[in-house]
Amino acid sequence: MRLKKILIIGLFNFCLLSLLLVCSRVEKTYDLVIANGLVIDGSGNPWFKADIGIKGQKIIAIKDRIEPQKAERVIEAAGLIVAPGFIDIHTHADEGILKIPGCENYISQGVTTLIGGNCGGHEFPLSELFQKIQQQGIACNFGSLAGHNTIREKVMGMKMGEPTPEEMSRMKELLRQEMRAGALGLSTGLAYLPGTYSRTEELVELASVVAEFGGFYASHIRNQGKRITQAIEEAISIGEKNHLPVEISHIKLADEDVWNQLEMIIRPVEQARARGVEVTLDQYPYTATSSGFTSSFPQDVFEGGQEKFLERLKDPETYDRVKQTIINNRLTSKRGINKLETIYIARSQKFPDYEGKNLKQILEMMGKAATVDNGAELIIDIVKEGDASAIFFQMDEKDVEALMKLPYVMIGSDGSLQVRGQGSPHPRSYGTFPRVLGEYVRNRQVITLEEAIRKMTSLPAQTLRIKNRGLLREGMYADITIFDPKKIKDLATFASPHQYSQGLVYVLVNGQEVIEQGKFTGKKPGMIIYGQGYRKK
Ligand SMILES: [Zn+2]
Repeated sequence: MRLKKILIIGLFNFCLLSLLLVCSRVEKTYDLVIANGLVIDGSGNPWFKADIGIKGQKIIAIKDRIEPQKAERVIEAAGLIVAPGFIDIHTHADEGILKIPGCENYISQGVTTLIGGNCGGHEFPLSELFQKIQQQGIACNFGSLAGHNTIREKVMGMKMGEPTPEEMSRMKELLRQEMRAGALGLSTGLAYLPGTYSRTEELVELASVVAEFGGFYASHIRNQGKRITQAIEEAISIGEKNHLPVEISHIKLADEDVWNQLEMIIRPVEQARARGVEVTLDQYPYTATSSGFTSSFPQDVFEGGQEKFLERLKDPETYDRVKQTIINNRLTSKRGINKLETIYIARSQKFPDYEGKNLKQILEMMGKAATVDNGAELIIDIVKEGDASAIFFQMDEKDVEALMKLPYVMIGSDGSLQVRGQGSPHPRSYGTFPRVLGEYVRNRQVITLEEAIRKMTSLPAQTLRIKNRGLLREGMYADITIFDPKKIKDLATFASPHQYSQGLVYVLVNGQEVIEQGKFTGKKPGMIIYGQGYRKK
């Protein structure tokens, strides 16, 4: 009898102990704790010391100290900066996201959210793109604008002039469809085809569709040189008439005639902000741009498409007019700069041996004299074969620095996803964010570290109306970038662009490490960032 009692009590105690053990295993409050780091929360405030506790996809605690036993895993971050994951508001990542779902050239910069569909072009239809992304998974978060050029070309082809009422309503319908699929707003590329053919009224009317849903108007403006002020005013008027925020893409003074005349940008922007129009800008930290060559041509020669263009070039008068326009737009310099030496071919399907070389080197390789005439003819030959992606050194370093100091300018790469080793792309696709942190913050002290991080996190999040990312706060998604402020540095150069940056230690997307101790983990925790118009089917 007594033995039985002892056995029962023993069994009971055993059960209780087991239960306690099980409970204490389940009891872990955090999946992950980032301990002892210097937290820069994205607000622009100075760093503070805190531990960050993560459960699932979210940050659930930011405290002076979190006991390590409460965490499944601990990241030791002493001496490291713990910041929100960077949000790149200006990319062309929509082009490569399905082929390069690991987003390596961006996560290696600490970027956790990529916004594509800029400069008037996007992957149409967005519903299909988003569905495919969700099926295969991506390493970083992704959202997209709807591009005016894409929509206009679908409806009007390469037609110049105004749309008919039917064409207008068809364009609005397509934009409405993309907004419902989750587009974040409308982007234009008014230096590119066929956007260059559109007038302001067309854009005002199209942007009214964005206003129905909520979103913003992002613009690669018509001119980034002598007529930049009017071009900024046009963008502002399109947003203002529709009560929409305006984001001006890759702001720059891209013509030596207007170098150092920052008031051409500041005046229209600050006047609009004083009237209550929300205007922001983005920039990348380099003095070279990258695009194709068609924007240097007289735009009417492209009307109707490539065949018509080739046909028109056979007329000697037209050919001469094209050549002269290219010389004026691209190859003349009042400051005595040899323009042929400042234009590099980044990527060319037809002429891969041109990649990485400037126009002067290419002409010499062909056994031709390095004259502007030959240069213009070379450009025409390249565009005849479907254009190439080129790099143009056309900005002044002083302007890059001065723009960075403006509080409403954020950082955006204007880059795209890259297959490592392919072509000779602009290094901005690999180095933009670490370059700001290493070169402009640490080496030159143009802005503070906290200000730089604000421009990479909460400012783009605010512009995009993303309310649950861009700051380190309890309840936010755990997109977190951890780096060494003494080591962070871009390594990608124009001569050797396919280089990942150094100094990044951990990158978390939605609570999961995509970079761990500086190495890619191959995880794909990224989500789609939908706009306010998103309707679930
Ligand atoms: Zn652009």
